[in-house]
Amino acid sequence: MADTGNLQSLAHSITAVASPFRSYLNELYDKYHPLNQGAVADYIPELALAKPEWFGICAVTVGGQSFEVGDCDQLFTIQSISKAFVYGLALEDHGRAYVNSKVSVEPTGEAFNSIALDENTNRPYNPMVNAGAIATADMIKGKSSTDRLKRILDMFQRYTGRELDINVPVFLSEKATGNRNRAMAYLMLNFGMVSERIEETLDLYFQQCSILVNARDLGMMAATLANGGVNPITKERAIDEHYVQDVISVMLTCGMYDYSGEWTYRVGIPAKSGVGGGITAVVPGKMGIGTFSPLLDAKGNSVRGIKVCEDLSKDFGLHLFNVAKAERNLEDWIESNNVTVDW
Ligand code: GLN
Repeated sequence: MADTGNLQSLAHSITAVASPFRSYLNELYDKYHPLNQGAVADYIPELALAKPEWFGICAVTVGGQSFEVGDCDQLFTIQSISKAFVYGLALEDHGRAYVNSKVSVEPTGEAFNSIALDENTNRPYNPMVNAGAIATADMIKGKSSTDRLKRILDMFQRYTGRELDINVPVFLSEKATGNRNRAMAYLMLNFGMVSERIEETLDLYFQQCSILVNARDLGMMAATLANGGVNPITKERAIDEHYVQDVISVMLTCGMYDYSGEWTYRVGIPAKSGVGGGITAVVPGKMGIGTFSPLLDAKGNSVRGIKVCEDLSKDFGLHLFNVAKAERNLEDWIESNNVTVDW
């Protein structure tokens, strides 16, 4: 019997090789690989093991074509990128009104670990800063701590289309050194923003940050959101379509830490970054972009990842509010010269 899976991936790779878009991505890789600015995160020893030269770019269209260059198999911890997706699960679990009563959607202009709550409502500012992400993790339903973690992992697996693991040493280090996050959780408990199961929720938060992904996964996750919540390859729904716009909105306004305003101005693609070096960026209705390079700028965003997204946005006119004609048309670059494989 023919192995359809293999034939499909062969077809995908032949299509990818022939596409001018792939050559474009190769050029981006060559352009930015020599850029050695920034530093690898070192607040826990495990993250400091990342190699500065690691660099991967993966773009996945809503039609399921994928294009990748560089280190797209290299695993790293998802870190803060998880926050956007867990927010989606909390919305599914409780609906907008309840989630909004516990976590606001206002950008802070402050670092991701700032200890600040909205003075009037005592809510954390948004689900992308640590405080808001911890309050969001607290909302995830489940019969037990194991069940809550399983629901989070299952959700990520619907986005990536493959099984995921947790980096246990990273989780344990985050837990051992996470007193700032612990302090925020207790402050929120004081204001009734989280339930009493503080240690269980912090564990869940540290575990969700320690999930191992690669650049391809981040491309697939973003493509799933770009595709209205359905994974373009497996066709599995990862999130109720009604909540996709909520997730993408907070990514746009708060996804790049205290660089979110400038990111929206310069790039205009809803995205989320993590200190592991990943960025997942959603071009609604078109494609998802995943980048990985562990060299971070002072705000915690991947230096090469920012450059790649800036170029893609400019060259293909992908800024959400762009009304001018772009230098290149994405559809043409992806569709033209495609090799059709018959079997
Ligand atoms: N686990 C990290 C923390 O809670 C997440 C940091 C990040 O990616 N910004 O501090």
